[in-house]
Amino acid sequence: MTSLQLNAGPSPWGSPYWKKLPTEELARYDLQAPTEKYFIDNLELLVDDMETALYKGSLKLPDSPDLVKVVVKTDFFAKALRTSAFIHEADMYELHLSSLQGLSIPYCYGLFQHKDKEDKVSSFLVLEECGDLIDDVSSLPNSFKLKALDALYEIHCAGYIHGDLSLNNITIKDGQPFFIDLETAEPHKCEMKERIVVGEERRKIECDEIDLCCMMLEIWADSKVKVDGLLVFQRAHLRRENIDFLLSLLIHRNRDTEVFRPQVEQLVEKMEAEREYYHNIRSQRRFIEPVAPE
Ligand SMILES: [Zn+2]
Repeated sequence: MTSLQLNAGPSPWGSPYWKKLPTEELARYDLQAPTEKYFIDNLELLVDDMETALYKGSLKLPDSPDLVKVVVKTDFFAKALRTSAFIHEADMYELHLSSLQGLSIPYCYGLFQHKDKEDKVSSFLVLEECGDLIDDVSSLPNSFKLKALDALYEIHCAGYIHGDLSLNNITIKDGQPFFIDLETAEPHKCEMKERIVVGEERRKIECDEIDLCCMMLEIWADSKVKVDGLLVFQRAHLRRENIDFLLSLLIHRNRDTEVFRPQVEQLVEKMEAEREYYHNIRSQRRFIEPVAPE
């Protein structure tokens, strides 16, 4: 039986004074694994929440002198234990998406379980530490945004959606994106075929979660186009067939809206040219490639 031993570490704020991290050996959830003993030291609280406490620490593996930086996620302090959700998440890492470990999702060192005197099972999921959360989307380079989209698409191609996508679930480590927190991942058949280019106008695509990712990472162009001295237009409205409609929006500026026609036509031509540019890139290449104007 593979086991894990945690050194003593702090408890989340507000937890009962007697509730301390267990330091006895914890059994690994997967009983097929070989007999090994893991040890984690230098535990620090990363997320001080009783429902899901998150620690970082240094993992000592039995066959290596090096320490590995890991994150330990636990419901040990929670009122409602989530044993099956932890098993589901561990299965995502170790079974369903195992080939993506260390690439677009963290490497998983195992799910370990603690049984209290009343036989209640709390969980300790040990994952590779995968850098920091994104704190400013607008400062991300286009190349990173496309890598993230690519990484998500790989998860989809492996047959799953993340299920709870937010900026709190994407990390960046050495310029590489990682998707974390797979508790709510679900089976999915991705219909996405056409590639996406950073900066193109939002369009209807075949996958809702990829669309959500494009919105979160500001991959789609801003839905509004501001024109100095005129108005803020909806980007989607800026089409040749809409010119009379666009002029009608300007009636409060001048009853003779024809005076704006040259300016509006010029703007619409610029947008139509951009659409054609992105359309041509999409039709030339496969799903996601880093070709985009900065
Ligand atoms: Zn999909």
